[in-house]
Amino acid sequence: MESASQTMHDAIIIGGGPAGATAACVLARAGKSVVVLEKEHFPRFHVGESLLPYNREIFEEIGVWDQIQAAGFMVKRGAQFSAAGGMPRARLVFAQGLFTEHPEAFQVERSVFDDILLRHARASGADVREGVTVTGHEVADEAVVVRTSREDGADDELRARFLLDATGMAAFTGTREGIRRVYPQHRKVAVFGHFSGVEMPCREERGDIVLVLRERSWFWMIPLTDERASVGLVLDLDEFSRLGRKPEALFAEVVRTTPELHRRMGRAQPATPLHVITDYSFRMDCMVSPRLVRIGDAAGFMDPIFSSGVMLAMQTARDGARCVIEALEKNQTLTTSMHRYECETRRTMDRFWAFIERYYTRHFTDLFLQPSSFLHLTSGINAVLAGRTRLPWSVRWRIQVFFFLVWLQKRVPVVPRIRWRNGAGGNYAPQTAQIPK
Ligand SMILES: Cc1cc2nc3c(=O)[nH]c(=O)nc-3n(C[C@H](O)[C@H](O)[C@H](O)COP(=O)(O)OP(=O)(O)OC[C@H]3O[C@@H](n4cnc5c(N)ncnc54)[C@H](O)[C@@H]3O)c2cc1C
Repeated sequence: MESASQTMHDAIIIGGGPAGATAACVLARAGKSVVVLEKEHFPRFHVGESLLPYNREIFEEIGVWDQIQAAGFMVKRGAQFSAAGGMPRARLVFAQGLFTEHPEAFQVERSVFDDILLRHARASGADVREGVTVTGHEVADEAVVVRTSREDGADDELRARFLLDATGMAAFTGTREGIRRVYPQHRKVAVFGHFSGVEMPCREERGDIVLVLRERSWFWMIPLTDERASVGLVLDLDEFSRLGRKPEALFAEVVRTTPELHRRMGRAQPATPLHVITDYSFRMDCMVSPRLVRIGDAAGFMDPIFSSGVMLAMQTARDGARCVIEALEKNQTLTTSMHRYECETRRTMDRFWAFIERYYTRHFTDLFLQPSSFLHLTSGINAVLAGRTRLPWSVRWRIQVFFFLVWLQKRVPVVPRIRWRNGAGGNYAPQTAQIPK
């Protein structure tokens, strides 16, 4: 160590993404001394551009809503899901959900969005240090000690009463403690980048995210501006390894051989290199311990299909930071609220996981792509997929009935089964189902 600071901070946050920035805002606005250590310099590229309507509540709580609204991001009103051949196709419109209180979200260029949040954390009073990588941590009885390394090679040591791990997929503390658990049946790879010239929905559907489902893989298309879209392919890691293809070649072939993708991407040009990320679905065995709270992806990440990552990251950050404020004020290192935070985080993740797990089955897709107005079940789904986490009974029973129908569809067709031929998906009458209320 070249220097050792004896200053005792209330909290150190590792990572300045949406989770770290949100927690920093909550702590700083409560008058706590908080340092954010971020290894990159913002703005920086990041995947995860499609937000959910319920993000708005957290934007308002941390006082950044006006800046987000003023940034000119693409407004997202719905999500379109289609089979690879283009049909069947279903459109979920947030405003039509009977139990969805916020009708809109945003599609954001993450470099810009994350920068707004981190600057807001600084303006709220957090000491934000970019270009500082955390290389070690120790939790002792009286404090947490964090070791850092700057780009010029200088090492340092910082102390605080609490540590919040917001390091995203790197999951710094959990990885060091060996408590990162992957979902064994759910090992995926994503190949993605930004493109210009993608044909995206227009008029009243402008801003919709488009998801194209193939037999064993799927594609996302997120309009960031009228010219630029984020496009990504998700497939099983086993399948990716078995094919042994270069990501660029595989991506191009899937686009060429999938009618709906070919239609939308025929004139597209890459605007960034393709990125690859693997094995990103995991959960920590433990999310809180004395003087330590894990938030955002560092607590766990499931799957990108329902665009829940940023919302859950910000929500866990807000809730985790509130626990830290209470613990600081009570002068305790591990509180009942921290344990409750872990239980509630697991419950929310389980709720999304129930959808994600079923989503990768054909019987779920059969029902999802051919929705009906029966009992307004789709309004229940709409609320969850909009990011509503405190669910009323009216939503909860509808989800259970929907899951029962998914179970039934496997045994007896409740709706016609989609025939996936060469990944083309179905031979249905060409009509778009508006997901009903
Ligand atoms: C393929 C894919 C597609 C996705 N699509 C979506 C989507 O459409 N919508 C959505 O909401 N979510 C999506 N997500 C999820 C979303 O990207 C994450 O959930 C979100 O970024 C989590 O925020 P975070 O702050 O926890 O982590 P991050 O945003 O990853 O931030 C972590 C920060 O910690 C820093 N850091 C890491 N290690 C250290 C260290 N040792 N020292 C200092 N700093 C460090 C990093 O530089 C980084 O800036 C997607 C994820 C994947 C894998």
